[in-house]
Amino acid sequence: MKIVPISVPTPFYVGPVNVYLVKEEPLTLIDTGPKTREASEALKEGLRRERVRVSDIKRIVLTHAHEDHCGLAKQLRDEAKDAEVFVHGWETGHRAARLEYDEHRVLLERAGVPAEDIAALRRMYEGVRKYADALEDHEHAELEDDDELRFERGSLRVVHTPGHTPGSCSFLREADRTIIAGDCVLKRITPNPVLSPDPVDPTRRFRSLAEYLVSLARLRSLSPTLVYGGHGEPVEDYEELFHRYLRAINERQAEVIRLLPKTGATAWDISREMFPGADDVHRFLAVSEAVAHLDLAHSENKIALELSDGREVYRKA
Ligand SMILES: [Zn+2]
Ligand SMILES: [Zn+2]
Repeated sequence: MKIVPISVPTPFYVGPVNVYLVKEEPLTLIDTGPKTREASEALKEGLRRERVRVSDIKRIVLTHAHEDHCGLAKQLRDEAKDAEVFVHGWETGHRAARLEYDEHRVLLERAGVPAEDIAALRRMYEGVRKYADALEDHEHAELEDDDELRFERGSLRVVHTPGHTPGSCSFLREADRTIIAGDCVLKRITPNPVLSPDPVDPTRRFRSLAEYLVSLARLRSLSPTLVYGGHGEPVEDYEELFHRYLRAINERQAEVIRLLPKTGATAWDISREMFPGADDVHRFLAVSEAVAHLDLAHSENKIALELSDGREVYRKA
């Protein structure tokens, strides 16, 4: 069972995305790239190099539903005729054209984001959305933790690794403990735990960073020999990366606590302090980052949190 990485360009700041071809029957693609002509051409060129046609693809498995990873899923599914698409049930939103704007708006308001910035973020969402086709409910099947994706020779085990998004999944080849981890593990950057509604109770926000730490530890318990990430080169030394991530998370948490003024501050205030120049999508990622770290610090009783005028205000404990 051969795993072939194919680098596909994206219009996003993160740069190219890695799509993985599992060259074994049933022929399987893990992630697809965004819905652009450039991405589609690069993917097809990558398949041609492996003497694979789109019509040979039987299965499309998504690590998560961000546009750079899932954008071409519907097109490929249609082109490959009966290809089955799999994604975790917690990746609502993009996959089924159900981006929960209202739930997101509530989360942003609570985080202290001003109305005009919420409006700008909404326009940004609309802009990003065109890079993926939505999948209707009947057009995909759901992945569950510990599912086995069987191949003629070998298999991949589904490891639910929430954090970057609630339904992020990794795939373990047990024979040599190789893992395909999507955006859960990236060699050069610490993945952003993106602000999102809790899939079980959408009126709450998903505890992304706490979940992410559990996922990192779970991957560690699998003693991976090689981890293929969603962007950049594969990671050969997961142990080193694990400790580097933990250090980065601890440092960021200390910074967030240090930035809290006596009078208290919202996640938005803190994000503007941490990343004053952040614009567009980065403004949103900055709030995500602040919320994630404040949530974690609060859950560890390091800071206090109270609701004031519908906004969450954090204070030093
Ligand atoms: Zn992502
Ligand atoms: Zn990505």
